[in-house]
Formats: sequence, C-alpha cells, structure tokens
Amino acid sequence: MPVIAIDGPSGAGKSSVSRAIAERFGWSYLDTGALYRALTLFALENGISTLDEIPGRLADAKLHWNGNPQTPEISLAGRVINSEIRSAEVTAQVSLVAANPAVRIFLLGMQREIINNAWPGIVVEGRDIGTTVWPDAELKIFLTADLQARAVRRSAELQANLSDSDVERSLAARDRIDSTRDFSPLRQTEDQIVLDATHLSFNEVVSEIIDIIGELKLANDDGKHGR
Ligand code: C5P
Repeated sequence: MPVIAIDGPSGAGKSSVSRAIAERFGWSYLDTGALYRALTLFALENGISTLDEIPGRLADAKLHWNGNPQTPEISLAGRVINSEIRSAEVTAQVSLVAANPAVRIFLLGMQREIINNAWPGIVVEGRDIGTTVWPDAELKIFLTADLQARAVRRSAELQANLSDSDVERSLAARDRIDSTRDFSPLRQTEDQIVLDATHLSFNEVVSEIIDIIGELKLANDDGKHGR
C-alpha cells in the first residue's frame, strides 16, 4: 500500500496539498500536526501546566482521527475539536508539547496504527514522517517555501487580526523549536524530493506530486487503488 510522506515547515501548504492528493486517489489522509495540537488543547483544558505531567495523562485524552480527506475530523472523547486546535493559544504552545519525548512516543504508536489500518493508500503530513514515523514510505516529499511566502499564506488562512510580520515571527519561532529539538526534529534528508512552493501555485504543487505518483506507478490508472 502506498504511503506518501509530506514533511516540511509550518505554512508551506502541506495540509491542503495532502488532502487534494488523497482525494484524487481515494486514499486516506493523516494530519499529524492535528494530533499534536489536540494533545496541546487537552493539556490546556485540563490545567496540565507542566510538561512532566502530560505523559501520565495521555491515555485519558481519547484522541481520535477519522482519516477522511474531504471531511477530516479530530476529536477528544467524542467531542470534535477541529476549530479549537487552531486557536492562537494552542498554536503558541504546540511546539513545546511536541518536543516532549513521551508525547512523541505516544503519538508515534498512534500514527503507525492509523497508517497500518489505512487502505488503499494514505497521504501523511507532518515534520518527521519520512524520517521517523514511516521511513519506508514509497514517496517522501519535503514541501517548503520561504518564510515570507509562508507567512502571507498563513495570514490569509487565519483571517485574524494579525499582521504578516506577527505571523512571520510565530512561524519562525515554531520552525526553530521544531528543527532543533533533540527527539525527531524537522530535517531535510537526501531521500526526499524537495518542492519549493515559494513561486508555485497550489495547483502546480498538487499536479507536480500527482505526476510523481504516476511516474512511480504508485496508483493504478483509475487512480483508486494502490499497487
Ligand atoms: O502542521 P501543524 O502546523 O498543524 O503542526 C503543529 C505543530 O505540531 C508543529 O509546529 C510541530 O511542533 C508539531 N508537529 C510535530 N511533528 C509532526 C507534526 C507536527 O512535531 N509530525
């Protein structure tokens, strides 16, 4: 079963690109950032203020991901939290929570279980999918763009009262924590195909990846089934 790993820094367009590719082939979709965000929300809502406290409480979170690229849904104990995990508070804390090894080990197991149960293919996006979560992925993409382009894109998505430079600062801070943490940091490797989306439209990025999937024969002609 083809596993497509799409890694890269915040705001490069990984989520929308990954969803479009999964939809195109009728495959599953996994947004691993949503899992880290959900556990961050869980910690904030339950007054878990120190990172040391989180590991013992992870099983209580009852975290669930539905895998559907058209209507992705993340929930805690049956409560859908799609919009709550995008709050400024969660965004400001998530990289610190994600640097906690116990959190990463817990989510590593969950991510691998989701991938193992997916059929007939899956697109997984995050920071360490090709390096740690699924090193045997049939295709590994590193999707990036320069900081300014990512900030402009993210500000438009957020539609919040934040200037591009505020968003740029917040992205840069997350990039720094995500790429310098000891455990499973964001990094570019030689077995990834690098796509720089700074001067590419969304459609150009999607069609480039679809072309690569075609060249590698990872999907049948009807697009619906993996090898
Ligand atoms: O992709 P998104 O911006 O929603 O991810 C939120 C945060 O989750 C990232 O900044 C990073 O700290 C963490 N993350 C991670 N490893 C992943 C996916 C996300 O550490 N595979």
